Amino acid sequence: MKILVTGCSGLLGSKLTPLLARRGYNVIGIYNVHRPSYSADGVKLVKLDITNTVALEDLVLKEKPDVIIHAAAYTDVDGCERDKNRAWRINVEATKSLVRTARVVKSYIIYISTDYIFDGSKGDYIEGDTPCPINYYGLTKLIGEELVRGSDLLHTIVRPSAIYGLGGSKKSFAEYIVEKLMRNECVKALTDQYVSPTYNGLLAKAIAEIVELRPMGVLHVAGPRMNRYEFALKIARALDLPLELVKEASMKEMTHWIACRPRDSSLDTSKAKQLLKTRFYDVDLAVDLFKKEWLSRRGEPCP
Ligand code: NDP
Repeated sequence: MKILVTGCSGLLGSKLTPLLARRGYNVIGIYNVHRPSYSADGVKLVKLDITNTVALEDLVLKEKPDVIIHAAAYTDVDGCERDKNRAWRINVEATKSLVRTARVVKSYIIYISTDYIFDGSKGDYIEGDTPCPINYYGLTKLIGEELVRGSDLLHTIVRPSAIYGLGGSKKSFAEYIVEKLMRNECVKALTDQYVSPTYNGLLAKAIAEIVELRPMGVLHVAGPRMNRYEFALKIARALDLPLELVKEASMKEMTHWIACRPRDSSLDTSKAKQLLKTRFYDVDLAVDLFKKEWLSRRGEPCP
């Protein structure tokens, strides 16, 4: 089976792409700026700016993938607010092209969406709750969802939240916390913003399972609800780092933010838990895996 992964150099793609190759799939990974450094046996890496929709469509028509996993996005929430044109071209126009060509070559498409399609007034969102994005990033991702949902393609829309882990082209919040605390620097973490932190390694496994099961519709694949402060403490505790350096902060102090953030965009994952065997929702497992990965990257023995 041939699988095309967009965003193969990202936080998710850098875990998902080699995992799919290890499972014996024929994988094509698209990156833009950051060529992935993982060993990529069984992966054909293609450098392609997906806003070049002619090149993107040509690639899909030539390769005829059985499955497209669309994980590439302009994920900088403030960046999307600042440069709406760029956000639209990456998050909407490229998705439109993928949908259009997927229909021609009859691919199954997995669209990676986000908890930021919700306004955050309620939390614990289920798949059927009405989206109402409060920033441009969320809006463009929701339009991407609608393009996929409105097509006649066999599709699954996967919504994670606050992805963390190692391996991507940019640092996740967890990595930032660990690096600051290791330098004995304070970390400010929000007590009033709730998310469902999702470990990239388990998210990748869940998506690999979805490739096999092909469930139609939307699935929330995320960790348990917690605020950013609780999450920072969890990471600090797991890596034996000084907890007293984790300081409470609130959203109103974030005066440098350009885009509004949902107050509580946590996701209810009951549906995916019933469907999938992968324990993506298990925070102790996730944090332990993160810790082992962190220690092995530093060349320290795993306990
Ligand atoms: P990252 O920001 O880590 O990576 C983004 C990926 O998209 C990179 O591989 C990047 O390539 C690629 N990309 C961006 N612009 C282009 C372009 N013009 N042409 C080709 N490729 C491009 O994202 P994540 O891995 O964290 O996110 C994966 C998905 O999950 C996204 O769809 C995101 O919306 C969603 N999501 C993310 C969350 C998070 O907390 N990170 C939370 C919820 C959902 P390169 O590095 O080469 O530029």
